Order: sequence, then structure tokens, then C-alpha cells
Amino acid sequence: MSDTSVRIAENLAAIRGSIAEAARRVGRSADEITLVAVTKYVGEAEVRALAAAGCLDIGESRPQELWAKVAALADLPIRWHLVGHLQRNKIRRTLPLVSMIHSLDSVRLLEAIDHAAAESGKMTPALLEVNISANRAKHGLAPAEVAPLVEQLPAFPHVAVRGLMAMAGHEGDAHAARRDFAALRELREQLRGQCAPQVTLDHLSMGMSGDYEVAVEEGATIVRIGSALFAGLS
Ligand SMILES: *Cc1c(COP(=O)(O)O)cnc(C)c1O
Repeated sequence: MSDTSVRIAENLAAIRGSIAEAARRVGRSADEITLVAVTKYVGEAEVRALAAAGCLDIGESRPQELWAKVAALADLPIRWHLVGHLQRNKIRRTLPLVSMIHSLDSVRLLEAIDHAAAESGKMTPALLEVNISANRAKHGLAPAEVAPLVEQLPAFPHVAVRGLMAMAGHEGDAHAARRDFAALRELREQLRGQCAPQVTLDHLSMGMSGDYEVAVEEGATIVRIGSALFAGLS
């Protein structure tokens, strides 16, 4: 094994350990939590190292980068996640490649994805991205826009909305992150009470390198981790 592979495997094991501890602190099981490795900072070799270490959920934030990595790594049984913004002109090429879109953030995008998914006969799992901190620099639906969109979901049967996604508003502020993650969970509980029975909203995709333990304590079922996996690589 190369030094890179060893370091990535060690980082992954340490992060999985921290996730398990955070889960245990609040009486959850680590099995409920999927680690998506976000690989936008690294290349093909690092993704291969992650896969060899058992991490097969891989996320990219830019569609073009996702397409390139999917092509280069087609020999691996990776589940690809798009975690960043999806422009409508990139939908057709992206949908067949991904197992989840984390960044559904408008009715127009929902319509366009549903249309493309209907044509290809494939259901598209997705999460609604919420700008939970109301930080103007972040993408996502305003919290007040989410319920009206959820009400419209039965009209878009080729998109399976499985939950919500958000980023904490202020990096490095654990208190603010906890408040944001709790707000996302509470929004999900509210929506569950009012949405159509086929909309399950099981997932909360929240928590990145700096705040994933807080996110797990607040109910994350998916954490999206980039830089912490690649710490110490030259
Ligand atoms: C880059 C990125 C991450 C991972 O960020 P790190 O802080 O490096 O762990 C998670 N989610 C999204 C949407 C990202 O763009």
C-alpha cells in the first residue's frame, strides 16, 4: 500500500470511530449513519484508496468533476452522490450516474429532474437542500419554502424525495452548528406530519469535517466529509 492509501485508511477509521462515539452518546447506532466521502479536493488515486478501505459512497460538488471521476472509476462499485448545485443543463448527463442528489433547491429544478427521469424511466432519489441558517452565501430553499414544495411532490412521481440536506451557517462555531442542525431536524418532524404518505423524509444529510460529530448527535443519517479524510497527505 502507498503512504497515501495508508493515511486515508487511517483517517477513515478514525472518523468512523468518532461517528460511532457521537452516535453512542445520544443512544443511536452507527449503522444508521452513512459516511459520504466528498472528493472534490482529490483525484482518482485517493478515491481508489477510499474504496479499498471500504468507503463506497462518494460525493462530488460539481457535475463535470463527477462525470470525469465516474468515467475514470467505472470499474468500482461506487454509489455517487451529487452534493453541490445542479444546473438544469447538466441534469440529463448526471441523473444516470448518481444514487442521490443532495441539492434539490427549487421547484424549477424539481420539474426538470422529474421530466428527465420520466424519459429515462428511472426514479431519482433526492434531498431538499435547505438554507437553514438563512445565510445569504448558501444555496438552498428558505425554510418557509420547504412545506409548499413538499406539498407539490406527488405531482413529480419520478423524484423520490428522501429527506433534507443543509450546511451549518458559520464554519467553526459548534454552538451555531448545533442550532442549525436541530432546526433542520425539527423542520423534518414538522413536514412529516403534513406530507403525503409516499414521501418518507428519512434522511438528514448534515455535518462536514468540522461539525459531523455535532450533526450525528442532532440526528444526521448522512454526513458529508471531505478535508478530514485527506488530512496529512502531502
Ligand atoms: C466540500 C463539501 C463538503 C465537505 O466539506 P469538508 O469541510 O471538506 O468536509 C460537504 N458538503 C458539501 C456540499 C461540500 O461542497
